[in-house]
Amino acid sequence: MSAIAIKTVLIVEDNPGDARLLREMINEQEAHGTTLAHVETMAEAQTYLADHVIDVILLDLGLPDAQGLGAVRRVHTAAPHVPLVVLTGQEDPLLAGHALRAGAQDYLIKGQIDTRGLLRAMRYAVERKDMEEALFVEKERAQVTLNCIAEAVACTDVAGNISFLNRVAETMTGWTWEEAAGRPIGDVLRMLDATTRNVVLNSVRDGDDTTASSPQLSNCLLVRRDGGEVPIEDSVAPIHDRSGQVTGTVVVFRDVSASRAIAVQMDHSAKHDFLTGLPNRMLLDDRIHQAITLAPRHMKSVAVLFLDLDGFKQINDSLGHAIGDKLLQSVAERLVECVRSSDTVSRHGGDEFVVLLSELERSDDATITVRRMLTAVAEPHVVDGQELHVTASIGVSVYPDDGTDAGSLIKNADTAMYQAKEGGRQGYRFFRPAMNAQAVKRQAIEDGLRHALERQEFELHYQPKINVRTGKITGVEALLRWTHPTEGPVRPAEFIHVAEEAGLIVSIGQWVLREACTQARAWTDAGLPPVTMAVNVSVMEFRDKKFLEGAFRILDETGFDPRLLELELTESVLMNRAESTGGVLQALRQRGVRITLDDFGTGYSSLGCLLKFPVDALKIDQSFIHQIFGIEDNTGIVTAVIDMARSLKLRVVAEGVESLEELAFLKAHHCEEAQGYYFNRPVPAVDLVGLLRGGYQRRHTPAGSAPRLWN
Ligand code: C2E
Ligand code: MG
Ligand code: MG
Repeated sequence: MSAIAIKTVLIVEDNPGDARLLREMINEQEAHGTTLAHVETMAEAQTYLADHVIDVILLDLGLPDAQGLGAVRRVHTAAPHVPLVVLTGQEDPLLAGHALRAGAQDYLIKGQIDTRGLLRAMRYAVERKDMEEALFVEKERAQVTLNCIAEAVACTDVAGNISFLNRVAETMTGWTWEEAAGRPIGDVLRMLDATTRNVVLNSVRDGDDTTASSPQLSNCLLVRRDGGEVPIEDSVAPIHDRSGQVTGTVVVFRDVSASRAIAVQMDHSAKHDFLTGLPNRMLLDDRIHQAITLAPRHMKSVAVLFLDLDGFKQINDSLGHAIGDKLLQSVAERLVECVRSSDTVSRHGGDEFVVLLSELERSDDATITVRRMLTAVAEPHVVDGQELHVTASIGVSVYPDDGTDAGSLIKNADTAMYQAKEGGRQGYRFFRPAMNAQAVKRQAIEDGLRHALERQEFELHYQPKINVRTGKITGVEALLRWTHPTEGPVRPAEFIHVAEEAGLIVSIGQWVLREACTQARAWTDAGLPPVTMAVNVSVMEFRDKKFLEGAFRILDETGFDPRLLELELTESVLMNRAESTGGVLQALRQRGVRITLDDFGTGYSSLGCLLKFPVDALKIDQSFIHQIFGIEDNTGIVTAVIDMARSLKLRVVAEGVESLEELAFLKAHHCEEAQGYYFNRPVPAVDLVGLLRGGYQRRHTPAGSAPRLWN
């Protein structure tokens, strides 16, 4: 306390006796160098204060020109930073209290003043004023800080009524601090749980005197004064006094609309396919899980459809990915239109879609939706002004018979879809457990095929083609043979289409062509009579952009005469993309390579088609040959094809000839060439050498004589 040095004191006192008394008491302190000034009126005091620096004012509350609280206020206004001690009469104890609130730091009651009391009062006044100033600065700093931060801050008193709002809180709630002050916090900060929309109460906020801060509440909505809602995060902490009693709370909250919107967006992206906006596999799994949990309770059935587009790859490859993508979007829209809102259409990737039908009355109700989808997808799609046609194949699995979880239901629907595809385009199949075995086998074939070339598991067998009139071998057809390391020999009918679907046919086809040309060249080099080498080429292989280049390279590298090479293509080659097909065929023809249409009669090629392209021969499909003596009068197709070929000046070959009767019939109808078990089965190259050397087919050429039929 002695550290406080009071250098200047202003006495405002009109009573000369009182003034003198005060002066005397203070003068006792003159040793400390205190200077005294004395005025008798408020007006004089105001003038004096305007020009002088004062440490303490002693103010009488009964001046001629100012009394009571009015006097306090006027001096405080004139010198707001100067400590003030008021002197009151004994008759007015209440006034002292009011004076303190109006800006005085202490009071003395006249008649009870002694020197020590006076000096102590003056020192206390200085000290208190200093503290008040410091407190003011502190409060100011806190308030400026609170108004500068990005968070909203609200404070309450112990009763839970608002005592402070910073600017952000004012903006967010729509209340000004002044309006909100004294109101219950629940009126100003109305908060709801975003999910349940229940009012969120907070223990600290509601006056519970817990001492801990409450954890941050995340999923909250603040209801603004105007009724608007803002997603917020908030946390609440109690304020304690020295003794640890809760005196109020501080609530800090912030607007999380932006981050919540991003979170919602990210959640959506994680669960949806970017191209079509449909749910993805993850969300579908959830929905299937949900559906099979609810199904038994509602006595309903659940079906999973696996849909795959037929021929999408060709469209994508030939017209480009941009068109392919739009086509997928168009398909997606149509599929969604075929189902109810409780069902889920999801994209599985590529051209595959998986559909969940929940709450079916009976499992075969799925058929109705399946049919609707097949029809909807098959309607022409207009993409960038052009009409595109695709069809779909669908497999169906049903809970719980075909699986009790999302994984197995989807897998089995996929298996059924494969069956549907094998049955022809635009079909559907319900899953049968037996399919699983087939699916496993198919998988084994696909896996095996991936290594078959490098492990040298392929071999070519050759089957002669015979001139029906002379019995001479006109050529051989190369037929691919594959021995799977565990499954044993696998028939081409089982693996060629798998190789096509798995995209392996191009490299396998190249191997076949090279092997066949190399073999034929080796026979010629060994001095055997030249024969035509026929090689089967699948449509997919033929459509490959590098097909022509590859074929020519093989011819160059093996040195095989292109005029002895014959490619066997199926009719479907002619049906699409006439222009590029024509170009490739023309280029082959220019090189001398011949083209045969294999399995003729099973496709839909028209006469017009045949005329348009440079085709050399037709190979009547063996199913027609087998019918010659099967059902009566079913020889029409065979004779029609022979006649048509003759009129178009095309060679005609009958394949799959197994009996003398069939051969006789063909001969009678002027079919020139034939091939079949009747003559020879396909055999390895070594077994063919003898035959080629003799030039005649085996069975009917004993000891160099021509067969009876040819006599
Ligand atoms: P394809 O080109 O029509 O070949 C004729 C098929 O009939 C061959 O079956 C042959 O062994 C069989 N065959 C020949 N004579 C008779 C007969 O008298 N009776 C019966 N029932 N069948 C006979 P394979 O070798 O199983 O080939 C089946 C199909 O697989 C071929 O039909 C062809 O489309 C395809 N294929 C075979 N090798 C290749 C190849 O290297 N590349 C391609 N892309 N496809 C091939
Ligand atoms: Mg063939
Ligand atoms: Mg054939």
